[in-house]
Amino acid sequence: MKHSPNNPILLTSSLHVDEARAAIARLVEELLNESQAISDPADIEIVALDQAINRILAEDLLSPIDVPAADNSAMDGFAFDGKCLDTNTPEIALQVVGTAFAGKPYEGNLKTGECLKIMTGAVMPANCDTVIPQELTTEMTETQITFQQAQLKRGDNRRLRGEDLQTGKPAISAGRLLRPSDLGLAASLGIAALKVRRKLKVAILSSGNELRTLGESLDIGSIYDSNRYSLSGLLNRLNLEIIDCGIVRDDPSALKNAFCEAAAKADVLISSGGVSVGEADFTKQIMQELGDVGFWKIAMRPGRPMAFGILKALAGKSPARKTLFFGLPGNPVAVMVTFYQFVRSALLQLNGASHTDVPMTQAICTEAIRKKPGRTEFQRAILSRGEDGKPTVRLTGSQGAGILRSMSEANCFVILAHDQGNVAAGEWVDVALFEGLL
Ligand code: AMP
Ligand code: MG
Repeated sequence: MKHSPNNPILLTSSLHVDEARAAIARLVEELLNESQAISDPADIEIVALDQAINRILAEDLLSPIDVPAADNSAMDGFAFDGKCLDTNTPEIALQVVGTAFAGKPYEGNLKTGECLKIMTGAVMPANCDTVIPQELTTEMTETQITFQQAQLKRGDNRRLRGEDLQTGKPAISAGRLLRPSDLGLAASLGIAALKVRRKLKVAILSSGNELRTLGESLDIGSIYDSNRYSLSGLLNRLNLEIIDCGIVRDDPSALKNAFCEAAAKADVLISSGGVSVGEADFTKQIMQELGDVGFWKIAMRPGRPMAFGILKALAGKSPARKTLFFGLPGNPVAVMVTFYQFVRSALLQLNGASHTDVPMTQAICTEAIRKKPGRTEFQRAILSRGEDGKPTVRLTGSQGAGILRSMSEANCFVILAHDQGNVAAGEWVDVALFEGLL
């Protein structure tokens, strides 16, 4: 059976999480090739450094300078010509003839037997190549120092010009999701603005007759729409442009209009609700007219049903690009889990990011977990340091797909792999931290 979104069938067998991820990555790749989005100049903008956090670098950032720009001292100590270390004298004595500060180099030349007091970062004086750190001297006065030759080798404690970066070499590669250290690095090169990929436009909508907007009163059987808020929070972590399409009723023409409107404006549409078995036929009917969408039953918990594919490029949309569509399940926790598993990496990939993987770690599970092989499970949990200093993880109570409180209390997922069975207390389990992701 084909799982491709080109074959929009409701699967009777379950799709492995990894197969679903791979199918999504393939379709995004096709979209990128079609639209040449990565190399399209219209998709690049120049932003000031302080606006560039979490954006994706569009071109390699080449260093305009050598870093460091000159040989300099890595320590507070005394700079001298390391030639004297070649002698057989175990103890070396040198005359202190001046001081070099960071930002105030020493101009003179040193003679044999002389040294210079030097601060970390200060430019190495001419004909000096070695620094003895202050704490390694055996004697130190205003005018003279002594130290054991065995304490160091020629060239020690000196940073060489261009050691970190050479002029013209890439300091940051295209595709980097820019982090604080990248902004600092760009600033250290004197670069005030970066070429980044434009923000993806991501439309979100919630579907369901039972949903009410905040501020409305709840009649019997209705609930507040929470998914748009968790989704916009998730998307804000990625510094995207969010187009909020509100709540749409379970009504074919309302849904169709909302999908058309979103597709006209957005690169990606993320809806929640309306893809579970009872409602999928209804959504499927609309999708057949608007695009090419697969309805998947994924072997995972929570988050089993999911629709994924493309909405056709609309006439008049400029540029005429297709819109990527994720129909996430309605359950509030399932929305976050499917976003984490499938949507996040697709958004990053679509926007030219070179790495989309999430960092994983392992911890000792403090309790037994019942688990059937044959599906991937995401359990909400709290990672902390156990009494023995080892990382431990405990679940945050009830794991029902609708229970947001246990998600809110958690700081990580325990991820139980597809083939894994029951977990015993004390076993190591895979953990993905929320911080920076969710
Ligand atoms: P559905 O996938 O539409 O069958 O929805 C599954 C469950 O999630 C139902 O209990 C819905 O009421 C609930 N649900 C759907 N959408 C939302 C939403 N936007 N906010 C909160 N709960 C939702
Ligand atoms: Mg529904």
